[in-house]
Amino acid sequence: KEPLCECNSCYAGSDCSVFIPGCSANADGGNPLFLEPFWVQHAASSALLIAGWHRMSYTFNDHTFISQELERLIRKLHAVVGNAVTDKRFIVFGAGSTQVISAAVHALSPDNASSPARVLASIPYYPLYKIQTELFESVNFKFQGDTSQWKNSSDTGANMIEFVTSPNNPDGQLNKAVLHGPHAKAIYDRAYYWPHFTPIPAPADEDVMIFTLSKLTGHAGSRFGWAVIKDESVFDRMTKHIGVNSIGVSRDSQLRALKLLKVVLEGEGREIFEFGHQTMKIRWENLVKGLSSSNRFSLQKIEPQYCTFFHEVRESSPAYAWLKCEREEEKDCYAVLKAANVIGHEGGVFGAEDRYLRLSMIGSQDDFDLLIDRLTKLVSVEAGAR
Ligand code: PMP
Repeated sequence: KEPLCECNSCYAGSDCSVFIPGCSANADGGNPLFLEPFWVQHAASSALLIAGWHRMSYTFNDHTFISQELERLIRKLHAVVGNAVTDKRFIVFGAGSTQVISAAVHALSPDNASSPARVLASIPYYPLYKIQTELFESVNFKFQGDTSQWKNSSDTGANMIEFVTSPNNPDGQLNKAVLHGPHAKAIYDRAYYWPHFTPIPAPADEDVMIFTLSKLTGHAGSRFGWAVIKDESVFDRMTKHIGVNSIGVSRDSQLRALKLLKVVLEGEGREIFEFGHQTMKIRWENLVKGLSSSNRFSLQKIEPQYCTFFHEVRESSPAYAWLKCEREEEKDCYAVLKAANVIGHEGGVFGAEDRYLRLSMIGSQDDFDLLIDRLTKLVSVEAGAR
């Protein structure tokens, strides 16, 4: 029998009530359990019961593998939040944004070019871009690392595909493309462009924009993501890619996404975004406060901006802390934190120095409280030594 709950890293037992003393605070992964309390509050309205006979076919009645009703709801959601233009745009679904990303790289790569498209990202970048592009490497595209070496390059003949993550994972910055020109194309990963994590200054209007349910509702396990695309031929190539490698997203996941988005849209999204933003804001303030007296550790700074969703200037409330170990000798920030029983994600994984460490802010409240507890102790040791 499966346990009823998902236990946080420091708890065990059939109802997750047994604390494991001395266990590590897990700030490593990207599990978005911070939204679990919202869904506990909306357990009934978000529940789904699917009869055995329902949706057994490969396709919907219109012979596509995309639910038109879900697509309509996604367009409505973007209009309500004001975070993306979807008028006269195409939408494709994927098994999480992970699958959409691989389809986008394929779709933006030329078929018969003399050299493969260079796939690039600015450091620090989300590691999947490198891992996935290298694994799927073909004659049409190749991962070539950091954008900085190509910014002023006179070698404009080769196609370039730039990943722009905005807000960025790991440092929360609202990045913009740095490569321009006739051979440069961008894939804007907008996974975190929701009011939980950032002010929304304007609707995003890029050629290829990628979103995911994982960081919007927190249902990472449902594996549902989508792309909003300007160009029909790019849309066709992405649709073909996803069709050939999986015949589209599970109909069950689409049904779940539909149910969840209906709840999100109740009251024009106020409730979930108020909850998400408030939770993330309080966490960020606690972290900043906890580290404020430290000379040993520093955090990224993100400029406040006017948020068109909340109609006021808002501070960012980022999904991750990008911690820097400031002491010259502490070049391995992962090891420094590990010694204090905190597990983060090494800077090197993001193409940066290991003096940086990413700490997840989006886990469960228990995980976050433990993180703050351990960090506070670490900083008080520092103060004691002064
Ligand atoms: N893009 C970014 C920037 C992410 O942080 C993540 C998840 N951590 C993803 C894409 C992939 O998410 P998913 O496949 O669950 O949509």
